[in-house]
Amino acid sequence: MEAVQTCKRCLYDSDHPLGLEINDEGICSGCLIHEEKDNLDWQSRWQDLEELVRPYRCLRRVKYDCIVPVSGAGDSYYILHIVKERLKLNPLVVSYNKYFNTPLGIRNLANLRSKFNVDILIQNINPTLVKKITKTTLRTIGSIYWPCIAGQTVLPVQTSLRYKIPLIIWGAHQGVEQVGMFSHLHNIEMTRRYRKDHDLMGFEADDLLSIFDTLTEEDICQYRYPPDSDLRKNSTLGIYLGNFVRWDPKQQHEEMINTYDYKTSKFSRTFDCYDFVDCYNYMNLHDLIKFYKTGFSKVTDHACREIRHKRLTREKAKKMVQYYQNQPCEYLDLFLDWLGVQEIPLEFSLNLHRNKSMWVEEEPNGWVHKLHNEKKVNKSSFPRKLRFIANDSLNRDEESKYITIGKGYP
Ligand SMILES: [Zn+2]
Repeated sequence: MEAVQTCKRCLYDSDHPLGLEINDEGICSGCLIHEEKDNLDWQSRWQDLEELVRPYRCLRRVKYDCIVPVSGAGDSYYILHIVKERLKLNPLVVSYNKYFNTPLGIRNLANLRSKFNVDILIQNINPTLVKKITKTTLRTIGSIYWPCIAGQTVLPVQTSLRYKIPLIIWGAHQGVEQVGMFSHLHNIEMTRRYRKDHDLMGFEADDLLSIFDTLTEEDICQYRYPPDSDLRKNSTLGIYLGNFVRWDPKQQHEEMINTYDYKTSKFSRTFDCYDFVDCYNYMNLHDLIKFYKTGFSKVTDHACREIRHKRLTREKAKKMVQYYQNQPCEYLDLFLDWLGVQEIPLEFSLNLHRNKSMWVEEEPNGWVHKLHNEKKVNKSSFPRKLRFIANDSLNRDEESKYITIGKGYP
């Protein structure tokens, strides 16, 4: 096996799960494709986008022009801002309820609906079923997030067929943003293959059936990607705005905070206050599992992004990653309560999924990361200028469970 190399510019290693090339100068494909952000003629890319969406615009405003998948966080506000305010399209907004909702996420989603004046379709899959699938994927592939990702990536596609709306508009493509899998100029589109291989860790809904006999066809049918022939007949097309607009999540979120009152929060395991504020688990238990399985956590993704946008030096980023990736996971009790499991069996199950080429068990339950084992990091070495605004918080005194279905806000 080839030795693992680290990019000289960002912090990604050559064994990145999405696949990453490092060139002779020691620079990774993600950093090289990022350079396009400063070199492409974005004005002309915008014209290409206008051309692309023109045939989908219904001039009489009697039906929807496109589907936009959203959550109470992420890039949802910015995508809608582009689609509704700049492209002047009439979207049907869809949202998969992943049940790990924070009050802040519920609030952001309600605020989005009224600020953008859109119709929203929320899918609430039978919670008993979601828990059953979560238990299975947790035990077998070490994932508590499979149903969430499967649901949010399939709902827009199913809706496209059901409502006969061919165009689906996503934000940025993760493979382009993180590892430079494609050039922005490739205009990469949504595919079943990428969803299966990367979003779903190689397991489509039916694969869960054939491998694990705990689930039945009835259990997984809501997560089933429609057949290619149906998608072709409907001319379903999923495009990514990140190929046409210079994507910079920090700057975009700050614009959304100022323009639409998007609410944000501090997290214990990363410095980014804008991503995933709708979910109690993404930046906590799910992030811890990512750290066990891949050897790096979400803070590395955030740090690499900030290095590439030249707001953070590599040296300072390294310190921040070392600090944040070793911080405790919060809100675990909420998850244990929701799924009806105990902490010790959960820990046991998670340890089975640790990547043993990166982790060693030095003493019973004393796991050490082979490379990133420096636990004590002085926070005074963190950059002062890299400011993320936390204008709210995930904590609520009165709330002790997930808001599985939230009430509306004005
Ligand atoms: Zn790099």
